[in-house]
Amino acid sequence: DELVSQIAAGEVVERPASVVRELVDNALDAGATQVTVRLSAGGVRAIVIEDDGCGIPAEEIPLALKRHATSKIGSLAELEGVMTMGFRGEALAAIASVSDLAITSRTPEAPHAQRLEARSGELAPAARATGTSIEVRELFFSTPARRKFLKSDATELAHALEALKRHALARPDVSFALWHDGKLIAQWRKATHEQRMADVLGPEFVEKSRAVDVPVGPMRVQGRIGLPEAARNRADQQYAYVNGRYVRDKLITHALRSAYEDVLHGQRQPSYVLFIDIDPTRVDVNVHPTKIEVRFRESGEVYQAVRRAVDAALSTTAG
Ligand code: ADP
Ligand code: MG
Repeated sequence: DELVSQIAAGEVVERPASVVRELVDNALDAGATQVTVRLSAGGVRAIVIEDDGCGIPAEEIPLALKRHATSKIGSLAELEGVMTMGFRGEALAAIASVSDLAITSRTPEAPHAQRLEARSGELAPAARATGTSIEVRELFFSTPARRKFLKSDATELAHALEALKRHALARPDVSFALWHDGKLIAQWRKATHEQRMADVLGPEFVEKSRAVDVPVGPMRVQGRIGLPEAARNRADQQYAYVNGRYVRDKLITHALRSAYEDVLHGQRQPSYVLFIDIDPTRVDVNVHPTKIEVRFRESGEVYQAVRRAVDAALSTTAG
């Protein structure tokens, strides 16, 4: 089972940023309004994620580490319409199999927090306000082959920051902070969607972009599309979300690029933050362990919706 978990870990956990992605997903699923990420040495030495979410009942903390133990899906039918970020019950088990992991958690009803060390299985009372802290130390210490693929602390930090940006852009209602070796790297306080985009991507992104907000049939496409003058090959400012989940999807990228080319006759890389909301039964998010890829039931309708939304936003400025 240890081996199975380590193999699963290979799919889910590539580097510290993957741990950040999964643990922040969990914090958001728990209803957190404040998420703090602390990294040491690019996250290789330690990743600590603290949230003020609902916490885990003491007796369920050991369960959280079991593979395929998820509190979020009750049946196969529910898998059809998942709205939470997590649902596979894989992340914590996978991360624990390639690190030294500890969970400290407290529910609002609990008289105090409990801390579980995954390796020893030791559960002990601890001090903490309502919410959960997950500590992940010495990532890949037992799998040196994987550890060797990690880059410099600065590079791993940059990847972790990017992972956090993806969450932050989708959840302006949540405050985020990122610390590295005791230094505050980023802090985004609860804000409006537009303010959050300015905080995360810089005010020039908001100034040099157009709002998109189009309901198309069973879908809604919202967000902002950067204008060409803001777009100077900003391939790093491309954020697409399906039902709140960050995705990398060729169909969406292609729809945006072709809209850019047709409306602006440019060959530039579009910059965008785009939220596509679609009936969850029309999209399959259970395609890849990192859930970064999705499969649409009707890819044509999604392509058309994105094109129409982007065309509308861009032509307003042309006219
Ligand atoms: P999944 O998110 O797919 O359910 P995970 O392995 O990521 O699986 O987490 C396992 C379980 O641990 C979750 O279903 C949840 O019950 C619990 N859990 C993990 N992190 C938190 C957290 N930050 N706050 C509350 N519960 C959590
Ligand atoms: Mg999860």
